[in-house]
Amino acid sequence: MKPLGPIPAGYEAKDGELAIGGRTASDLVAEAGDTPLFVYSRSHLDQRVVALRAAMPDRLGVNYAVKANPFAPVLDHMTGLVDGFDIASGGELEMVLAAGIDPDRVSFAGPGKRDAELKAAIEAEVTLNCESEGEADRALSIGETLGVAPKIAIRVNPSFELKGSGMKMGGGAKPFGLDAERVPSLARKVIANGADFRGLHIFTGSQALSADALIETKGNVLNLADELAGEIGEPLPKLNMGGGFGIPYFAGDEPIDITAIGRALEDRFARLPASLQDAQLCIELGRYLVGEAGVYLCRIVDRKVSHGTTYLVTDGGLHHQLAASGNFGTVVRRNYPVAIATRFDADPAEEVNVVGCLCTPLDRLADAAMLPRAEVGDLVAVFCAGAYGASASPSAFLGQGPALEMLV
Ligand SMILES: *Cc1c(COP(=O)(O)O)cnc(C)c1O
Repeated sequence: MKPLGPIPAGYEAKDGELAIGGRTASDLVAEAGDTPLFVYSRSHLDQRVVALRAAMPDRLGVNYAVKANPFAPVLDHMTGLVDGFDIASGGELEMVLAAGIDPDRVSFAGPGKRDAELKAAIEAEVTLNCESEGEADRALSIGETLGVAPKIAIRVNPSFELKGSGMKMGGGAKPFGLDAERVPSLARKVIANGADFRGLHIFTGSQALSADALIETKGNVLNLADELAGEIGEPLPKLNMGGGFGIPYFAGDEPIDITAIGRALEDRFARLPASLQDAQLCIELGRYLVGEAGVYLCRIVDRKVSHGTTYLVTDGGLHHQLAASGNFGTVVRRNYPVAIATRFDADPAEEVNVVGCLCTPLDRLADAAMLPRAEVGDLVAVFCAGAYGASASPSAFLGQGPALEMLV
């Protein structure tokens, strides 16, 4: 038997079934018309942001990293909840503009921005978080051609990293950001060329669950920003302090202590150096805001036994839930929180493997899981599906196509 990850708070049984937004899984699938289906819950999104804001200092802005879940109704809902939006491609730029989001709230990071993407961003007046000298030069010359002063922040590749982070994005050689020691001269050049200098962006990693590690890293980020501002010779208008807040996916994972992080930031903010006193300060979060608000529902289409192992074969799989299958940034495959949605209040009764419909042994949704006895036609729920699910999985694989999505 392998343990399942913890089911996030707020999911209860109704008429014996998993309920999301007060409606049963079968009811939601009936409305959507088919499986597989991603269901995202408005009330989860709301509660998450309310709790986060209550814990964090008032002056700390909260940005949403759109790549975690760009589903248009989710994006639209987030506009009323967060302060800023971080995008990482021209496609995401189109999405935030289509959602009517004020370009002043948008910053565009990510390596490999093409000239057409830089041009579209400069025309739309969103802030570019430049990832290299070359990119900043291209942005400056595009701005000159257009006759507009581009808004430019510089993404820093710091020498420290976020400890215990699932995905390290700082420390040592990286394709992201500019090595810290080269930042001041580029910032001075950007300012000298008449661009609207928007400060610094320091992102150090993702999916950390340790408050201590996050507190230490945010402290390092503030120290580094102060040091760089000193060398630039101007206070910073803005500092994006990165994110990294994780969610529990696996057995033994604990939710991060946002109260402790908020208190530590409050303390740091009370004694900020002059270079940061007037800076707009923000964090950028993806999975923490939306991950637990999503559930992936798929249907059991076959039940079979092979060499004594029972397989529940579903119409879902890694083409929608690459991360849950263990093939997106994990070394050892562990089980996400999974349940039989149509028997949500039944006791575990048998050990099964829940698999997808793709013809590859990689397509697993739960290994050796203790679940209630389930039959063909029952619905399986995979939790923590609100981030990096639909948009970060290879839905074209085997001609399967995308899953349905709905916000309730
Ligand atoms: C992906 C990314 C995020 C969001 O990461 P989460 O783990 O979803 O919070 C934030 N900032 C940058 C620069 C990113 O690349």
